[in-house]
Amino acid sequence: MLNDNCIFCKIIKGEIPSQKVYEDDKMLVFRDIEPKAKIHLLAIGKEHFKLLSEMDAERAELVKYMLIKIPEIAKANGCENGYRLVINQGEDAGQTVFHLHIHILGGETLGW
Ligand code: 5GP
Ligand code: ZN
Repeated sequence: MLNDNCIFCKIIKGEIPSQKVYEDDKMLVFRDIEPKAKIHLLAIGKEHFKLLSEMDAERAELVKYMLIKIPEIAKANGCENGYRLVINQGEDAGQTVFHLHIHILGGETLGW
């Protein structure tokens, strides 16, 4: 289920524009608006929840699906020589958007 007040849900619904690099019925990958590395993508599932601790079996399947897809998406978007994945969990970790997302960071770092 999506959330009307969530920026990333709005991006999924097309209410806020984004630079999409991959989309299917379960997930969306788009460019971070404020890149912290030369290549900075955000992978989100089409299900609104904030934390890994809120995962049930169905959500865990979604995260697993995303993790299986990410290598080919990263490679297709310039991360041939490796990349990092970051999942900020909660305010103390710097999470600012409360829709679980996986940062894909490749190339030279610009901050992170
Ligand atoms: P967090 O700090 O929650 O782990 O990461 C949120 C990320 O979302 C940040 O890197 C921020 O730049 C990015 N972001 C926030 N709002 C938007 C937006 O409207 N569009 C895009 N493409 N990225 C966003
Ligand atoms: Zn959301």
